[in-house]
Amino acid sequence: PVRVRMAPSPTGSPHVGLARTALYNWAFARRHGGTFVFRIEDTDKERNTQESYDSLIDLMQWLGLSWDEGVIVGGPHGPYRQSERGDIYADVLARLRESSYTYDCFCTTEEVEARRKASGSKVMGYDGFCRELSAEQRSAFEAEGRAPVVRFRMPDGEITFDDLVRGEITFQTEHVPDFALARANGDPLYTLTAPVDDATMEITHVLRGEDLLSSTPRQIALFEGLKAIGVATTTPAYGHLPYVMGEGNKKLSKRDPQAHMALYREQGFLAEGLLNYLALLGWSIAPDRDVFTLAEMVEAFDIKDVNPNPARFDLKKAEAINAAQMRLLSIEEITERALPFLAEAGVVDVTSAADRQLLDLAMPLVAERINKLTEAVDMLGFLFVAEEDFTRDEADAAKLLDEKGVEVVRAAYDAVEPLGEWSTAAIQEALQASLVEQLGLKPRNAFGPVRVAVTGRRISPPLFESMELLGRERSLARLRSALG
Ligand code: GLU
Repeated sequence: PVRVRMAPSPTGSPHVGLARTALYNWAFARRHGGTFVFRIEDTDKERNTQESYDSLIDLMQWLGLSWDEGVIVGGPHGPYRQSERGDIYADVLARLRESSYTYDCFCTTEEVEARRKASGSKVMGYDGFCRELSAEQRSAFEAEGRAPVVRFRMPDGEITFDDLVRGEITFQTEHVPDFALARANGDPLYTLTAPVDDATMEITHVLRGEDLLSSTPRQIALFEGLKAIGVATTTPAYGHLPYVMGEGNKKLSKRDPQAHMALYREQGFLAEGLLNYLALLGWSIAPDRDVFTLAEMVEAFDIKDVNPNPARFDLKKAEAINAAQMRLLSIEEITERALPFLAEAGVVDVTSAADRQLLDLAMPLVAERINKLTEAVDMLGFLFVAEEDFTRDEADAAKLLDEKGVEVVRAAYDAVEPLGEWSTAAIQEALQASLVEQLGLKPRNAFGPVRVAVTGRRISPPLFESMELLGRERSLARLRSALG
């Protein structure tokens, strides 16, 4: 059975690459009827924050990438936070220390560095000095009061594995120095904790970012030790997902505002839109197709189809995909999802039945035109705002309510003021007759100023419907106030 995991460290705010890794693992698990495990790699006490942990959980829940085992939900291989698995690592470390796979190392980093400089070696990292210590050397170090670290003995030769995304990859182990598994005080390091968890959680496929490729030969080698001491039975398969590149073809970094997932949610992206876009960062469902549902992705996802070349993050495309996903939602769904944004912005009072009624009437006018949920705020604000708080976009007003524009608004006022019936059709007919037929204006020049007068913006829901919804009194008041 397939078992995959995502294993983020709770440092900083969750970024695009991490979400893409989560999605691919999730889709792979669902595709194969497997298990998706969510564990937290929080052994680095200095860098972890509770805030980051909370935002990881929050993001996964918002995206709707449900996990079968892990933090919050629990499971048979828990606990799923590495900070709670200290006993497991201590036990495995003690057993590895008894084996020939490791040795005690007493060197300080300064000593290692000094030897490297003296030898002129270009290989960074440990030189194997303590590999074959004699009993005397050992006691001499101990007499100095030095505490050893347990270091893994990399085997000679090469390590080859079949990367699920990249095909066969070979590492010469002479370039992979022996590595420490824990600090001298016993605190376990990533080099130990990740493989031990992958082993004990029976992970079958490790799908993760390309930045972790260099740790793979170490982990594969350590798995031999874990098998020898009975902690692991098999080594997982590894697949490394392509880098995500940002502006200027540089790796999207945490410093890029676009890299942070929270931003998209705040901006009113749909989870569906974002997931659809993330899916395209290294995979495609068909050569000529960009928009698809998660269910369709699950059906079609094959890790062998993931493109190993760097993927380019393109905000414009993300927005276009989100817009396409908006079109797949019903008006009711868009209303429900937009409601928190409208409430947050103070546009709609969620406890008011009148507001809700107006929203249900107004949403059909804009649902087809908004590409992000926050655009509902911009588009509908004018309907809900109290008259004394109504303002117009300054640039739009400057442009369209100039001398000529004001004249148009005056004519519009005179045309609709006497109307007996305040309906979309009647308003349209009156404005058409007066502005287009009588004054001979082009529709754009006729209705632009009226639109800015009534809605405050050049971009709004359809004008005549908006005026009907706004009502006679408020529409007339706004036309009047635009006259200066
Ligand atoms: N905790 C690691 C990270 O956040 C991921 C480890 C892994 O996937 O093996 O980069």
